[in-house]
Amino acid sequence: MSKSKNIQPKRMCIVCRRKSGKGLLQRYVWNPETATVVLDEQQQMQGRGAYCCTDALCVERFLARRQGWKRAFRLN
Ligand SMILES: [Zn+2]
Repeated sequence: MSKSKNIQPKRMCIVCRRKSGKGLLQRYVWNPETATVVLDEQQQMQGRGAYCCTDALCVERFLARRQGWKRAFRLN
C-alpha cells in the first residue's frame, strides 16, 4: 500500500465513535462566551473542535448531552 495525499484524515464521531472521513462528519466548536456549541460549517473556526457524524440520532445525542461536552472540548 502506498500513501496518497488524497486520503482524507479520519475523524471520530464523539457519540457513536465511528471513524469517517472529515467530509462525513460535522465539526462543532465550543463558544465560551455563550457556553454552547456552534456548528462549524466551513470547518475552519478557531477553538477546540469536536466531530459528530451527520446521523440525526448522533447529532441529537451530542446536542442534548451537555455533560459530554466537557470531555469533548476538555472544559474544566
Ligand atoms: Zn455518530
